[in-house]
Parts: sequence; C-alpha cells; structure tokens
Amino acid sequence: MGNLTNPTYVSAVLNRFGFTFQKKYGQNFLIDDNILSKIIENADIRSGDVVLEIGPGIGTMTEELSKAASKVIAVEIDTHLIPILEDTLFNHNNVTIINNDILKTDIESIAEEYNEGKPIKVVANLPYYITTPIIMELLEKKLPIESITVMVQKEVASRMMTGPGSKEYGALSLAVAYYTTPEIVCDVPANCFMPKPNVDSAVIKLVTNTECPVKVENEELLFDCIRASFNQRRKTLANGLKNYPKLGLSKEQVTEAIVKANFRQDIRGEVLTLEEFAKLSNCIYEIKNS
Ligand code: SAM
Repeated sequence: MGNLTNPTYVSAVLNRFGFTFQKKYGQNFLIDDNILSKIIENADIRSGDVVLEIGPGIGTMTEELSKAASKVIAVEIDTHLIPILEDTLFNHNNVTIINNDILKTDIESIAEEYNEGKPIKVVANLPYYITTPIIMELLEKKLPIESITVMVQKEVASRMMTGPGSKEYGALSLAVAYYTTPEIVCDVPANCFMPKPNVDSAVIKLVTNTECPVKVENEELLFDCIRASFNQRRKTLANGLKNYPKLGLSKEQVTEAIVKANFRQDIRGEVLTLEEFAKLSNCIYEIKNS
C-alpha cells in the first residue's frame, strides 16, 4: 500500500495544498493499510472491471483501486480536493476524476461511457451525513451496478442487515434485502481515520441480486407501502397506509387490503417481513386495479 495511509505524509500533503477538513462533507480519511487491503480484496476488483468510487478524498483508495481495475471513475464534491487528487494520482492514468455531488451524477451515463452500459462495481468510504440517501439511490434507480462495497457507520451497517423486531429495522433494511445480498466484511475502529470520527464503522458488501427474493406486481408500490409504514413507525399499518397521500387509498381500501393480506387490523408495519410487505403491496395493487 502507498504512503497515503501514513498520517505524517497525509498531513504534509494537506499542508502543502493548504487544505482544511470540511465537516459538512463528512471528511474522515482512511489511514489504515490493513483495512484498505481488506476493502480492495473483498470488493473483488479484477482487471477488466470499471469501478465507481464515491468521495475519493485525497485518493488513498483510488490509488489501490486503479492498480486492480481497468478504469476508476472517482466522483468528489469538494473542489479543494481536486488539485490534490491530480497530484497524488498523477501516475495513474486509468483514473478519471469528476468534481460533482454523487447525488447529482448520472451513474448510468458513466456505465454507458466507460463500460458499454455493463454493470460496474461501486467502492467507497462513504460520507456519513448522506450514507442512506446514496445507498437508496444506488439501489432504487436500478442502475447497472454489480456490487457495492462501502465503509459506513457501524449502526447503519446493522440497519442494513436487520429484520423485523429490531429498532433498527426500516426502509433501508428492506431495500437492501430486496435488491441485494449483504455481507459484513469487517468492523473498523474510529482510530483508523483522520480526523477520528465519534463513531465506529464497518465495511459492508452488497451484491446485487440477479433475481429479487419476492415477486411483486409493482416495485414502486412495494416501496411506497414500506415508506408509508415506517413514516409513522409508532402507528398501526392501517394508519400509516391511510396517511400516505402518494398511495391514494381510502379508509375502506386500507381495511380491505389488510383483510386480503390476512393481517390483523391493528398490526404495525414494523413487524412485517419483506415477504409480507410484498403480499400487502400485491393486495393493494389488485384493489387499485379492480
Ligand atoms: N475515500 C477517502 C478515504 O477513504 O480516505 C475519503 C472518504 S471521506 C469519509 C468521504 C469523501 O466523500 C470526502 O472526500 C468528501 O469530500 C466526499 N463527499 C462528501 N459528500 C459527497 C457527495 N455528495 N458527492 C461526492 N463526494 C462527496
């Protein structure tokens, strides 16, 4: 591994460019060789792969990814990091740096331009302030993505892996279960970063499912039902569904759907499994289309 995990070297680079960390961008740079190798190894990058890196920082992971992959596209929001990346990645001519917000980046066009539209691999040490929106965007937009290997807050990793009965269960858990097969790669203590964050982290790998684990008539409807249920977590499923305008359901239709799905009228959405949400959304689909 390179010098970019060496704190003294990193400080020297940052000082040379007069860079100061921006809290608003969730900047905690990885300074641990061991964890870096684990990420690269588990992301299973092979020659021929096109990799999208979200938030390259000063290029620590980018450098290693570029050695393993055919092409790395690194999307970085912070303009101040661009000259640093151009310097640290000077010798890596298979890296393209894009100065943009990942949530405003057309990932489909990236796959089209660099991989003939075929699935790419996503690898990142994600900025914690927008981890969930980024993951949801990557999953729900049905982008050409083969796998997502990311560092996230430990608590977010547990939310992605959990099921009904846990306080952490929610729309993120269900989206991960529907679209992918998740696996925790390793836990990462806070002292592996510069500056040190207040929380511990974990690396999680999500491999995109070629076939979804449940069959639904309409995916958007499935996720509307899920969002409706967790929007008002402490209320009953019936209330959640009724109070979610996008579903456009009357009180009678909600009652009918719950009866049709064979649930108790006072059930809470947070106890339903993915299979049960699928059943519910298919019942709602039938009612709306009858
Ligand atoms: N990959 C580097 C590493 O591991 O050392 C940096 C990781 S740091 C946790 C997150 C990076 O994401 C920072 O470089 C930050 O500027 C960048 N970032 C934050 N928000 C972003 C966004 N919306 N789009 C793209 N990059 C973003």
